[in-house]
Amino acid sequence: MQTRQRISVNGIVQGVGFRPHVYRLAHRYGLSGHVENTGSGVAIEVQGPERTIVEFVRSLEFDGPPLARITSLRMEQTACAEETGFRILASDAGAPADTLIAPDTATCPDCLRELLDPADRRYGYPFLNCTNCGPRFTILRHIPYDRRNTSMAAFPMCRACQAEYDDPLSRRFHAQPNACWECGPQLALPDAQGKTLAGDPVERTVELLRKGSIVAIKGLGGFHLAVDATNAAAVAELRRRKRRFEKPLAVMVPDMRRAEELCVIHPQDRRSLESVERPIVLMRARAERRLAEAIAPGSPELGVFLPYTPVQHLIFAHGGFAALVMTSANLSEEPICIDNDEATERLRGIADFFLVHNRDILLRCDDSIVRNVEGDSSMLRRSRGFVPVPIALQCEVGNVLAVGGELKNAVCVTKGRDAFLGQHVGDLENLAAYGFFQESIAHLEGILRWKPSVIAHDLHPGYLSTQWALQQRDVPTAGVQHHHAHIASCMAEHHLSAPVIGIVLDGTGYGTDGEVWGGEILVADFQVFRRAAHLAYVPMPGAAQAIAEPWRMAVAYLVGAGEDCFEAGRGFLNAVPRGSVDVVRRMAEQGIRSPLTSSCGRLFDAVAALLGLRTKAGFEAQAAMELEACCGDETDGSYSFSIGEGECLEIGTGPLFRRIVADLGDGVSRETISARFHGGLASMLADLAYRISMETGIREVCFSGGCFLNARLSRGLERLLRARGLEVYKQSQVPCGDGGLSLGQAVIASHARPWRG
Ligand code: ZN
Ligand code: ZN
Ligand code: FE
Repeated sequence: MQTRQRISVNGIVQGVGFRPHVYRLAHRYGLSGHVENTGSGVAIEVQGPERTIVEFVRSLEFDGPPLARITSLRMEQTACAEETGFRILASDAGAPADTLIAPDTATCPDCLRELLDPADRRYGYPFLNCTNCGPRFTILRHIPYDRRNTSMAAFPMCRACQAEYDDPLSRRFHAQPNACWECGPQLALPDAQGKTLAGDPVERTVELLRKGSIVAIKGLGGFHLAVDATNAAAVAELRRRKRRFEKPLAVMVPDMRRAEELCVIHPQDRRSLESVERPIVLMRARAERRLAEAIAPGSPELGVFLPYTPVQHLIFAHGGFAALVMTSANLSEEPICIDNDEATERLRGIADFFLVHNRDILLRCDDSIVRNVEGDSSMLRRSRGFVPVPIALQCEVGNVLAVGGELKNAVCVTKGRDAFLGQHVGDLENLAAYGFFQESIAHLEGILRWKPSVIAHDLHPGYLSTQWALQQRDVPTAGVQHHHAHIASCMAEHHLSAPVIGIVLDGTGYGTDGEVWGGEILVADFQVFRRAAHLAYVPMPGAAQAIAEPWRMAVAYLVGAGEDCFEAGRGFLNAVPRGSVDVVRRMAEQGIRSPLTSSCGRLFDAVAALLGLRTKAGFEAQAAMELEACCGDETDGSYSFSIGEGECLEIGTGPLFRRIVADLGDGVSRETISARFHGGLASMLADLAYRISMETGIREVCFSGGCFLNARLSRGLERLLRARGLEVYKQSQVPCGDGGLSLGQAVIASHARPWRG
């Protein structure tokens, strides 16, 4: 019996070789009909015996092309037609654009083989790609995803490329960025004065890198600054020019073997390194690594990634480098450069040469960063390779734009059951980042053809993101408390909706009482939250200065722990002039320029400073990371805290600091003190969460906030909670730090009654 079905497929089904796949399947099953891209995905009509169609659909669902992701598939019967054969129809540009866009994807093994094959017509061509790999998100202007809507529109295909593009059996059928030596983008290598160097740009780049030059290399989502990672002088010069003195630099290595020489690699790390997203993977560095010390000074970890563009592969193939520093091309904390002119302008005085090309990057997108610890994977930065793949939500939430926080900003837009977390914008403290923030919103709106019905923002009135939200007069806004948003982000990732116990540990978040929160236990759902416990407030002497100089927090905590403790403890701050300690003590006691905080990040800072690890922070969370890094295996003698009474429990740190000072006086090692601190913090939090669980009957505990990147704390606390029968939920697809904040803001705003869709 002949029947005809109309099949609508949604998800990432455009630009990933889906139609040719359908075409080949239809041929294999002997079905007639057609397939076409629509604004909302792919539409298929197939005609043939009913049972064959059922098998066809099953193959479609379970055996798709590598980059495709089907989120829904609907079938409806329609009248049979007089036809033979199966055809691919041209895109229907008029339909509403609802389809998902694939992220930028690492060069696939087939393309890599061609790149290095002297007999291939694309031998050495730095922009080869196919439907299974190459740029997507960063070259797209708007949907539908067709060449004319990308920055490849400027490159008409040559006859050979066009033939592949038109051939349903070619790997390059409808590969929108398809190109070759003859028709596609080309490299050029100007110096800092704009004078182009003669010769093969890749070979010249290799020579320059060997000599220790700093070369800005245009990649997928922006420029990298590259230097030979084994050349200490070059690395030091890069740091000096970039004004990035301490923050670790990521290194790109040619292959797994080189990666293994540098780091201890677990199977999960290997999967992350080799994944098509090609993130930077943070791993434990081997002690005997042969890279310049300045790459990650004092850090037990190293960020490593594998090449993901043809240009990068060519540089390694020609240069034989063991590792290259490949760091975002920008001044510290400014957005990554994408435009050739912008790069020459902004990187003047940083890069000696510029390996550029004439394919525009339409949207900047930094490298993503992940870390795996004993089976847990955390996303430190969700950007290239992951954006714009949506996070699937549990239910429809309507159109919300959430603008995130201030640091590590990333925005989020929701549409139906999808949450599109935008790429890493960075710290919204400078105008350049603010511009990028606005671009990021406009681009997401553009590629989704979408308008918000509500804008969610942080409660902090001083954040540029908040101010931007409040200026959008035609759209209602919803303020969301920072830590509530953190918890909601974790809940959304795990499809939880009933109230949970949320433990949020981070550096800074504006509280409903106007103070700086950051060591919180909340009972929360998407509508409301109750602050069930928090670290007791301490003054931050000098406000922002107290973040930059952890010793100030040590003084504040010592003052809070009593006169004796302060007198005994100040002796361990001997790297700080006595007079400065006295001034800061007075500020703390009298509340001069000293906002109050319950921040867990500041508590880590204070302990790190007392242990003599660090008096000044070179970058965010540096002191806390060093405190974790020096943590020994000791499990005895965990420190304790005092717990207050009432509706909202205050966690006092007096007993903690008195014990630390006593241990320091007894000559107890840093390693032991750090272990006792981590252990004590985890067991106090576990006790409180358990107590709240008993009172409320809630058994689900969510972790969020940047302090949970501390694996020692996170795993210790998780173990204790599980031992008491509680369920623990941690973030992995979405950053637990402020990079994941906007997701939580979005779901909370969608549940705020007036705008519920
Ligand atoms: Zn490919
Ligand atoms: Zn061509
Ligand atoms: Fe936060």
